[in-house]
Amino acid sequence: MTEAVAFMGGTFDPIHNGHLRTALEIRQLLDLNEVRLIPCHIPVHREQPGSNAQQRLEMIRLAVEGEAGLSVDDREIQRSEPSYTINTLESLRQELGQQTSISMVMGMDSFLTLSSWHRWDEFLELAHILVVQRPGWEISLGHHLEDWCRRYSVQSPESIRSTPCGCLLMHRLTPVDISATRIRELIRTNQSPRYLIPDQVWKHIREQGLYR
Ligand code: ATP
Repeated sequence: MTEAVAFMGGTFDPIHNGHLRTALEIRQLLDLNEVRLIPCHIPVHREQPGSNAQQRLEMIRLAVEGEAGLSVDDREIQRSEPSYTINTLESLRQELGQQTSISMVMGMDSFLTLSSWHRWDEFLELAHILVVQRPGWEISLGHHLEDWCRRYSVQSPESIRSTPCGCLLMHRLTPVDISATRIRELIRTNQSPRYLIPDQVWKHIREQGLYR
């Protein structure tokens, strides 16, 4: 059987159970070797997240510890400047070879902005795109990506498992209505985010005094 991996990019500020449940269900759905979480680099002149790159990385590490098949990949953070998704795709393809099935997982909220991403129309030459539903976000009829979606959509996870790139799969997972924005807001207002994020991440946030 060919190798198959997926990755999920994001700010992960902080990582929460919506990210983790999505990653786990995708791994099971596609019988993947691994799902990598890839935190992005934040440029210094832009609005800073509530935690720095090393802290975001450490929280993901703590969150996936002990879960075989979920891992953190620091390639974007290791670069001295922010990279585009296309650079990450090129680098993953180079690392994993031409035959490996690579899927980029994104929530519907991210997918709706896809056509504004740098060289987005080359993504499917390097990977599959797997869009997961997110409560509150729907693609509407007449959306400018509708024709593009029709052209590349596949219905079965098997198409993704058996080819290296080129397919778009929209999939409904267990809806988990959690956002990092909400977690930051709870902490800022002295409320507990417990059960929305892993306990070890909440412990780390308290020890480091993050998001206050
Ligand atoms: P913020 O609230 O700060 O915007 P976020 O919770 O959306 O953060 P990100 O790190 O921006 O988290 O998300 C990374 C990726 O995970 C994106 O593709 C996003 O759509 C997806 N994602 C985030 N939360 C969920 C969720 N609850 N269910 C499904 N996908 C999610």
